[in-house]
Amino acid sequence: MKTRVPATAGQTLLIIDDEPEICTALATALNERGRHIIVCRDAEAAQFVIERFPITHVLTDIRLTGPFRFEGLDIIDQVKRHSPTASVVVLTGHSTDELQKEARKRGALSVLQKPASIEEIEQFLPHPENDGESMLTILPSIDEILDGGLLATQFQPLVWIEQPKHAVGFEALTRVRTESPLANPEVLFRYAQAKNRVVDLELAAAANSLKSGRELVDIGFISINAHPLVFTEIDRFCDGIINAAADAGVSPARLVLEITEQAPLPELRRVEAAATILRSHGVRFAFDDLGTAYSHLPSIAAVRPSYLKISQHFGTSCEANPSHRKIIENVQALAASFSSEVVLEGIETKETATFARETGIRFGQGYFYSRPAESSELVARYG
Ligand code: C2E
Ligand code: MG
Ligand code: MG
Repeated sequence: MKTRVPATAGQTLLIIDDEPEICTALATALNERGRHIIVCRDAEAAQFVIERFPITHVLTDIRLTGPFRFEGLDIIDQVKRHSPTASVVVLTGHSTDELQKEARKRGALSVLQKPASIEEIEQFLPHPENDGESMLTILPSIDEILDGGLLATQFQPLVWIEQPKHAVGFEALTRVRTESPLANPEVLFRYAQAKNRVVDLELAAAANSLKSGRELVDIGFISINAHPLVFTEIDRFCDGIINAAADAGVSPARLVLEITEQAPLPELRRVEAAATILRSHGVRFAFDDLGTAYSHLPSIAAVRPSYLKISQHFGTSCEANPSHRKIIENVQALAASFSSEVVLEGIETKETATFARETGIRFGQGYFYSRPAESSELVARYG
Protein backbone atom coordinates (compact mmCIF):
# COMPACT_ATOMS: atom_id res chain seq x y z
CA MET A 1 0.00 0.00 0.00
CA LYS A 2 1.27 3.50 -0.83
CA THR A 3 1.03 6.09 1.90
CA ARG A 4 0.66 9.33 0.05
CA VAL A 5 -2.04 11.80 -0.84
CA PRO A 6 -3.45 11.05 -4.31
CA ALA A 7 -3.33 13.39 -7.26
CA THR A 8 -6.80 12.24 -8.31
CA ALA A 9 -9.38 10.77 -6.00
CA GLY A 10 -11.32 7.59 -6.76
CA GLN A 11 -13.26 6.28 -3.79
CA THR A 12 -12.16 8.12 -0.66
CA LEU A 13 -13.08 6.54 2.65
CA LEU A 14 -12.59 8.59 5.81
CA ILE A 15 -12.33 6.56 9.03
CA ILE A 16 -12.64 8.51 12.30
CA ASP A 17 -12.03 6.66 15.55
CA ASP A 18 -9.98 7.53 18.61
CA GLU A 19 -8.87 3.92 19.17
CA PRO A 20 -5.72 3.33 17.07
CA GLU A 21 -6.22 -0.47 17.06
CA ILE A 22 -9.71 -0.14 15.60
CA CYS A 23 -8.47 2.32 12.97
CA THR A 24 -5.68 -0.05 11.94
CA ALA A 25 -7.97 -3.09 11.87
CA LEU A 26 -10.56 -1.27 9.73
CA ALA A 27 -7.96 0.24 7.38
CA THR A 28 -6.37 -3.18 6.85
CA ALA A 29 -9.65 -5.04 6.32
CA LEU A 30 -11.09 -2.43 3.97
CA ASN A 31 -7.94 -1.94 1.90
CA GLU A 32 -8.86 -2.41 -1.75
CA ARG A 33 -7.68 -1.28 -5.18
CA GLY A 34 -9.19 2.06 -6.17
CA ARG A 35 -9.80 3.09 -2.57
CA HIS A 36 -7.98 5.82 -0.70
CA ILE A 37 -8.42 5.34 3.03
CA ILE A 38 -7.79 8.34 5.28
CA VAL A 39 -7.61 7.67 9.00
CA CYS A 40 -8.18 10.38 11.63
CA ARG A 41 -8.07 9.92 15.37
CA ASP A 42 -10.24 12.91 16.24
CA ALA A 43 -12.89 15.22 14.85
CA GLU A 44 -10.49 18.17 14.66
CA ALA A 45 -8.12 16.36 12.30
CA ALA A 46 -11.09 15.02 10.33
CA GLN A 47 -12.22 18.59 9.81
CA PHE A 48 -9.06 19.39 7.80
CA VAL A 49 -9.54 16.31 5.65
CA ILE A 50 -13.20 17.07 5.03
CA GLU A 51 -12.28 20.59 3.91
CA ARG A 52 -9.54 19.38 1.56
CA PHE A 53 -10.65 16.12 -0.03
CA PRO A 54 -13.84 15.17 -1.79
CA ILE A 55 -14.95 12.32 0.47
CA THR A 56 -17.17 9.53 -0.88
CA HIS A 57 -17.60 7.40 2.27
CA VAL A 58 -17.25 7.96 6.01
CA LEU A 59 -17.08 5.54 8.92
CA THR A 60 -17.23 7.44 12.19
CA ASP A 61 -17.32 6.52 15.85
CA ILE A 62 -19.44 9.14 17.55
CA ARG A 63 -18.03 8.79 21.04
CA LEU A 64 -15.08 10.88 20.15
CA THR A 65 -16.29 14.44 20.56
CA GLY A 66 -17.00 14.88 24.23
CA PRO A 67 -19.69 15.48 26.77
CA PHE A 68 -22.61 16.90 24.80
CA ARG A 69 -25.41 14.68 23.53
CA PHE A 70 -24.98 13.76 19.88
CA GLU A 71 -22.16 16.28 19.52
CA GLY A 72 -20.27 13.60 17.61
CA LEU A 73 -22.94 13.68 14.93
CA ASP A 74 -21.84 17.21 13.95
CA ILE A 75 -19.24 15.52 11.79
CA ILE A 76 -22.08 14.33 9.52
CA ASP A 77 -23.15 17.95 8.97
CA GLN A 78 -19.57 18.92 8.14
CA VAL A 79 -19.14 16.06 5.68
CA LYS A 80 -22.45 16.85 3.98
CA ARG A 81 -21.53 20.52 3.67
CA HIS A 82 -18.34 19.74 1.74
CA SER A 83 -19.23 16.41 0.07
CA PRO A 84 -23.04 16.34 -0.12
CA THR A 85 -23.23 12.91 -1.76
CA ALA A 86 -20.92 11.14 0.71
CA SER A 87 -22.32 8.02 2.44
CA VAL A 88 -21.86 8.22 6.20
CA VAL A 89 -22.01 5.19 8.50
CA VAL A 90 -21.90 5.77 12.25
CA LEU A 91 -20.27 3.18 14.51
CA THR A 92 -21.24 3.34 18.17
CA GLY A 93 -20.98 1.36 21.36
CA HIS A 94 -24.37 2.67 22.53
CA SER A 95 -26.93 2.62 19.77
CA THR A 96 -30.35 3.95 20.90
CA ASP A 97 -33.50 4.66 18.92
CA GLU A 98 -33.04 8.35 19.55
CA LEU A 99 -29.49 8.27 18.25
CA GLN A 100 -30.54 6.29 15.16
CA LYS A 101 -33.25 8.83 14.44
CA GLU A 102 -30.99 11.85 14.90
CA ALA A 103 -28.18 10.35 12.79
CA ARG A 104 -30.58 9.55 9.92
CA LYS A 105 -32.12 13.02 10.17
CA ARG A 106 -28.66 14.47 9.56
CA GLY A 107 -28.11 12.26 6.55
CA ALA A 108 -26.32 9.15 7.88
CA LEU A 109 -26.97 5.99 5.94
CA SER A 110 -26.88 3.74 8.98
CA VAL A 111 -25.86 3.40 12.63
CA LEU A 112 -23.99 0.18 13.42
CA GLN A 113 -23.54 -1.18 16.93
CA LYS A 114 -19.90 -1.96 17.81
CA PRO A 115 -18.29 -4.36 17.35
CA ALA A 116 -19.52 -4.41 13.75
CA SER A 117 -18.30 -7.09 11.36
CA ILE A 118 -16.54 -6.14 8.14
CA GLU A 119 -19.43 -7.75 6.23
CA GLU A 120 -21.90 -5.40 7.95
CA ILE A 121 -19.74 -2.39 7.10
CA GLU A 122 -19.17 -3.52 3.51
CA GLN A 123 -22.94 -3.52 2.90
CA PHE A 124 -22.62 0.25 2.82
CA LEU A 125 -19.31 0.33 1.02
CA PRO A 126 -19.47 -0.73 -2.63
CA HIS A 127 -16.36 -1.98 -4.41
CA PRO A 128 -14.56 0.97 -6.01
CA GLU A 129 -15.27 1.30 -9.72
CA ASN A 130 -11.83 2.59 -10.45
CA ASP A 131 -8.99 0.07 -10.43
CA GLY A 132 -6.21 2.43 -9.29
CA GLU A 133 -3.73 1.75 -6.53
CA SER A 134 -4.96 1.54 -2.96
CA MET A 135 -3.71 4.29 -0.69
CA LEU A 136 -3.54 4.91 3.02
CA THR A 137 -3.10 8.29 4.72
CA ILE A 138 -2.92 8.33 8.50
CA LEU A 139 -3.12 11.62 10.37
CA PRO A 140 -1.20 11.24 13.61
CA SER A 141 -2.98 12.48 16.72
CA ILE A 142 -1.55 15.46 18.60
CA ASP A 143 -0.18 13.09 21.28
CA GLU A 144 1.52 10.93 18.68
CA ILE A 145 3.11 14.04 17.20
CA LEU A 146 4.33 15.26 20.58
CA ASP A 147 5.37 11.94 22.12
CA GLY A 148 6.21 9.88 19.06
CA GLY A 149 9.32 11.66 17.87
CA LEU A 150 7.53 12.89 14.74
CA LEU A 151 8.72 16.50 15.01
CA ALA A 152 11.65 17.73 12.95
CA THR A 153 13.07 21.14 12.06
CA GLN A 154 14.41 22.66 8.91
CA PHE A 155 16.18 26.01 8.89
CA GLN A 156 16.21 28.83 6.38
CA PRO A 157 18.92 31.51 6.45
CA LEU A 158 18.16 35.21 6.83
CA VAL A 159 20.94 36.81 4.80
CA TRP A 160 22.55 40.23 4.52
CA ILE A 161 21.18 41.36 1.16
CA GLU A 162 24.43 43.21 0.33
CA GLN A 163 26.49 40.09 1.02
CA PRO A 164 24.16 37.12 0.76
CA LYS A 165 26.89 34.59 1.50
CA HIS A 166 26.60 35.78 5.08
CA ALA A 167 23.69 34.60 7.17
CA VAL A 168 22.62 36.81 10.05
CA GLY A 169 20.30 34.16 11.44
CA PHE A 170 18.34 31.01 10.70
CA GLU A 171 14.58 30.61 10.95
CA ALA A 172 13.44 27.31 12.45
CA LEU A 173 10.56 25.84 10.45
CA THR A 174 8.72 22.96 12.07
CA ARG A 175 8.07 19.77 10.14
CA VAL A 176 6.14 16.63 11.06
CA ARG A 177 7.28 13.29 9.71
CA THR A 178 3.94 12.38 8.19
CA GLU A 179 2.61 12.09 4.67
CA SER A 180 -0.68 13.73 5.51
CA PRO A 181 -2.14 17.25 5.58
CA LEU A 182 -0.47 17.74 8.98
CA ALA A 183 2.90 17.90 7.23
CA ASN A 184 2.01 21.51 6.42
CA PRO A 185 3.03 23.55 9.49
CA GLU A 186 0.19 26.02 9.03
CA VAL A 187 -2.34 23.17 9.14
CA LEU A 188 -0.44 21.59 12.03
CA PHE A 189 -0.69 24.71 14.18
CA ARG A 190 -4.39 25.17 13.34
CA TYR A 191 -4.93 21.57 14.41
CA ALA A 192 -3.04 22.21 17.68
CA GLN A 193 -5.16 25.31 18.22
CA ALA A 194 -8.37 23.30 17.72
CA LYS A 195 -7.07 20.78 20.31
CA ASN A 196 -6.01 23.54 22.76
CA ARG A 197 -2.43 22.26 22.58
CA VAL A 198 -0.59 25.18 20.99
CA VAL A 199 1.79 25.75 23.92
CA ASP A 200 2.64 22.03 24.12
CA LEU A 201 3.39 21.90 20.41
CA GLU A 202 5.30 25.17 20.42
CA LEU A 203 7.53 24.07 23.30
CA ALA A 204 8.18 20.66 21.74
CA ALA A 205 8.98 22.35 18.41
CA ALA A 206 11.28 24.87 20.13
CA ALA A 207 13.14 22.13 22.02
CA ASN A 208 13.63 20.29 18.74
CA SER A 209 14.77 23.43 16.89
CA LEU A 210 17.26 24.41 19.56
CA LYS A 211 18.72 20.93 19.81
CA SER A 212 19.03 20.39 16.08
CA GLY A 213 20.13 23.97 15.36
CA ARG A 214 22.70 24.19 18.17
CA GLU A 215 25.63 24.50 15.78
CA LEU A 216 24.00 27.28 13.79
CA VAL A 217 24.25 29.71 16.72
CA ASP A 218 27.99 30.01 16.09
CA ILE A 219 27.05 31.60 12.75
CA GLY A 220 23.88 33.59 13.50
CA PHE A 221 20.82 33.73 15.69
CA ILE A 222 18.07 31.10 15.71
CA SER A 223 14.66 32.48 15.05
CA ILE A 224 11.71 30.53 16.42
CA ASN A 225 8.10 31.09 15.41
CA ALA A 226 5.67 31.72 18.24
CA HIS A 227 1.90 31.44 17.87
CA PRO A 228 0.08 34.34 19.61
CA LEU A 229 -1.69 31.86 21.90
CA VAL A 230 1.59 31.22 23.73
CA PHE A 231 0.84 34.49 25.53
CA THR A 232 -2.14 32.89 27.23
CA GLU A 233 0.25 30.72 29.31
CA ILE A 234 3.08 33.11 29.93
CA ASP A 235 4.93 31.37 32.75
CA ARG A 236 4.83 27.92 31.20
CA PHE A 237 5.86 29.25 27.80
CA CYS A 238 8.69 31.51 29.04
CA ASP A 239 10.08 28.88 31.42
CA GLY A 240 9.81 26.27 28.67
CA ILE A 241 11.75 28.38 26.18
CA ILE A 242 14.48 29.32 28.63
CA ASN A 243 14.83 25.69 29.80
CA ALA A 244 14.90 24.40 26.21
CA ALA A 245 17.70 26.86 25.42
CA ALA A 246 19.63 25.76 28.53
CA ASP A 247 19.14 22.06 27.67
CA ALA A 248 20.46 22.66 24.16
CA GLY A 249 23.37 24.78 25.42
CA VAL A 250 22.14 27.81 23.47
CA SER A 251 22.32 31.27 25.03
CA PRO A 252 18.89 32.99 25.01
CA ALA A 253 20.73 36.00 23.60
CA ARG A 254 21.09 33.98 20.36
CA LEU A 255 17.32 33.56 20.15
CA VAL A 256 14.76 35.62 18.25
CA LEU A 257 11.08 34.93 18.83
CA GLU A 258 8.98 35.54 15.70
CA ILE A 259 5.45 36.36 16.75
CA THR A 260 3.22 35.12 13.95
CA GLU A 261 -0.21 36.31 12.88
CA GLN A 262 -1.73 32.84 13.29
CA ALA A 263 -4.24 34.32 15.77
CA PRO A 264 -4.92 37.70 17.36
CA LEU A 265 -2.69 38.63 20.29
CA PRO A 266 -4.28 38.52 23.76
CA GLU A 267 -4.41 41.65 25.95
CA LEU A 268 -1.42 43.91 25.83
CA ARG A 269 -0.48 43.40 29.49
CA ARG A 270 0.10 39.67 28.89
CA VAL A 271 2.22 40.28 25.81
CA GLU A 272 4.18 42.93 27.66
CA ALA A 273 4.71 40.65 30.69
CA ALA A 274 6.05 37.82 28.52
CA ALA A 275 8.23 40.16 26.48
CA THR A 276 9.70 41.61 29.67
CA ILE A 277 10.54 38.17 31.09
CA LEU A 278 12.11 36.90 27.88
CA ARG A 279 13.96 40.14 27.18
CA SER A 280 15.51 39.96 30.67
CA HIS A 281 17.17 36.71 29.48
CA GLY A 282 18.41 38.37 26.30
CA VAL A 283 15.75 37.04 23.87
CA ARG A 284 14.90 39.37 21.00
CA PHE A 285 11.69 39.58 18.97
CA ALA A 286 10.36 39.80 15.44
CA PHE A 287 6.88 40.45 14.09
CA ASP A 288 6.22 37.83 11.41
CA ASP A 289 3.78 37.92 8.47
CA LEU A 290 3.25 41.64 9.07
CA GLY A 291 -0.19 42.69 7.92
CA THR A 292 -1.30 39.36 6.48
CA ALA A 293 -4.00 38.52 9.04
CA TYR A 294 -4.35 40.25 12.42
CA SER A 295 -2.54 43.43 13.22
CA HIS A 296 -0.08 43.14 16.08
CA LEU A 297 0.87 46.79 15.76
CA PRO A 298 -0.84 47.88 19.01
CA SER A 299 1.80 45.83 20.87
CA ILE A 300 4.81 47.10 18.94
CA ALA A 301 5.88 49.46 21.73
CA ALA A 302 5.54 46.70 24.34
CA VAL A 303 7.43 44.06 22.35
CA ARG A 304 10.01 46.35 20.69
CA PRO A 305 10.70 43.88 17.86
CA SER A 306 14.21 43.90 16.43
CA TYR A 307 12.81 42.72 13.09
CA LEU A 308 9.65 43.36 11.11
CA LYS A 309 9.21 40.53 8.62
CA ILE A 310 7.32 41.14 5.41
CA SER A 311 5.80 37.84 4.35
CA GLN A 312 6.37 36.09 1.05
CA HIS A 313 2.81 37.07 0.17
CA PHE A 314 4.04 40.65 -0.35
CA GLY A 315 7.72 39.86 -0.91
CA THR A 316 7.68 37.50 -3.89
CA SER A 317 7.99 39.54 -7.12
CA CYS A 318 7.21 42.72 -5.18
CA GLU A 319 9.21 44.82 -7.68
CA ALA A 320 6.44 44.22 -10.22
CA ASN A 321 3.53 44.97 -7.90
CA PRO A 322 2.93 48.66 -7.10
CA SER A 323 0.60 48.03 -4.14
CA HIS A 324 3.05 45.54 -2.57
CA ARG A 325 5.82 48.08 -3.05
CA LYS A 326 3.73 50.67 -1.19
CA ILE A 327 3.14 48.24 1.68
CA ILE A 328 6.88 47.57 1.86
CA GLU A 329 7.62 51.32 1.94
CA ASN A 330 5.17 51.70 4.82
CA VAL A 331 6.75 48.87 6.79
CA GLN A 332 10.15 50.48 6.24
CA ALA A 333 8.86 53.75 7.67
CA LEU A 334 7.34 51.92 10.63
CA ALA A 335 10.59 50.03 11.22
CA ALA A 336 12.58 53.28 11.13
CA SER A 337 10.38 54.88 13.78
CA PHE A 338 10.62 51.87 16.11
CA SER A 339 14.32 51.15 15.49
CA SER A 340 13.55 47.79 13.93
CA GLU A 341 15.11 46.18 10.86
CA VAL A 342 13.04 44.97 7.91
CA VAL A 343 13.37 41.39 6.67
CA LEU A 344 11.88 40.77 3.24
CA GLU A 345 10.65 37.18 2.86
CA GLY A 346 9.87 35.29 -0.34
CA ILE A 347 12.82 36.59 -2.39
CA GLU A 348 12.80 34.09 -5.26
CA THR A 349 14.64 35.93 -8.04
CA LYS A 350 17.61 38.16 -8.70
CA GLU A 351 15.18 40.95 -9.68
CA THR A 352 13.50 40.92 -6.26
CA ALA A 353 16.88 40.75 -4.51
CA THR A 354 18.09 43.77 -6.53
CA PHE A 355 14.90 45.68 -5.75
CA ALA A 356 15.31 44.92 -2.02
CA ARG A 357 18.91 46.14 -2.07
CA GLU A 358 18.05 49.33 -3.95
CA THR A 359 15.17 50.00 -1.56
CA GLY A 360 17.54 49.86 1.39
CA ILE A 361 16.24 46.63 2.95
CA ARG A 362 19.15 44.99 4.74
CA PHE A 363 17.91 41.47 5.39
CA GLY A 364 16.26 38.94 3.12
CA GLN A 365 15.01 35.40 3.11
CA GLY A 366 13.82 33.23 0.25
CA TYR A 367 14.45 30.46 -2.24
CA PHE A 368 16.80 32.74 -4.25
CA TYR A 369 19.29 32.45 -1.37
CA SER A 370 18.36 29.09 0.09
CA ARG A 371 15.43 26.74 0.54
CA PRO A 372 14.76 25.54 4.08
CA ALA A 373 17.36 22.81 4.76
CA GLU A 374 18.86 20.60 7.43
CA SER A 375 21.04 22.36 9.96
CA SER A 376 24.18 20.37 9.00
CA GLU A 377 23.84 21.46 5.37
CA LEU A 378 23.58 25.12 6.39
CA VAL A 379 26.53 24.85 8.78
CA ALA A 380 28.59 23.56 5.85
CA ARG A 381 27.38 26.34 3.56
CA TYR A 382 27.45 29.38 5.86
CA GLY A 383 29.90 28.39 8.61
P1 C2E B 1 6.70 31.83 8.10
O1 C2E B 1 7.17 31.85 9.50
O2 C2E B 1 6.39 33.15 7.47
O3 C2E B 1 7.80 31.05 7.30
C1 C2E B 1 8.12 31.30 5.97
C2 C2E B 1 7.49 30.32 5.05
O4 C2E B 1 7.80 30.70 3.71
C3 C2E B 1 8.03 28.91 5.20
O5 C2E B 1 6.99 28.00 4.88
C4 C2E B 1 9.10 28.87 4.11
O6 C2E B 1 9.40 27.57 3.67
C5 C2E B 1 8.41 29.65 3.02
N1 C2E B 1 9.36 30.27 2.09
C6 C2E B 1 10.65 30.57 2.28
N2 C2E B 1 11.20 31.16 1.20
C7 C2E B 1 10.22 31.27 0.29
C8 C2E B 1 10.15 31.77 -1.04
O7 C2E B 1 11.12 32.28 -1.62
N3 C2E B 1 8.95 31.72 -1.67
C9 C2E B 1 7.85 31.16 -1.07
N4 C2E B 1 6.72 31.13 -1.76
N5 C2E B 1 7.87 30.66 0.19
C10 C2E B 1 9.04 30.72 0.86
P2 C2E B 1 6.68 26.77 5.80
O8 C2E B 1 7.92 26.15 6.32
O9 C2E B 1 5.70 25.92 5.06
O10 C2E B 1 5.97 27.44 7.03
C11 C2E B 1 4.74 28.05 6.86
C12 C2E B 1 4.34 28.76 8.13
O11 C2E B 1 4.10 27.83 9.18
C13 C2E B 1 5.41 29.70 8.69
O12 C2E B 1 5.41 30.90 7.97
C14 C2E B 1 4.92 29.86 10.11
O13 C2E B 1 3.87 30.79 10.18
C15 C2E B 1 4.35 28.48 10.39
N6 C2E B 1 5.31 27.71 11.20
C16 C2E B 1 6.34 26.91 10.84
N7 C2E B 1 6.97 26.41 11.93
C17 C2E B 1 6.32 26.93 13.01
C18 C2E B 1 6.50 26.81 14.42
O14 C2E B 1 7.37 26.10 14.95
N8 C2E B 1 5.63 27.53 15.20
C19 C2E B 1 4.62 28.30 14.68
N9 C2E B 1 3.82 28.96 15.52
N10 C2E B 1 4.44 28.42 13.37
C20 C2E B 1 5.28 27.75 12.54
MG1 MG C 1 8.31 32.94 10.60
MG1 MG D 1 7.15 34.98 7.74
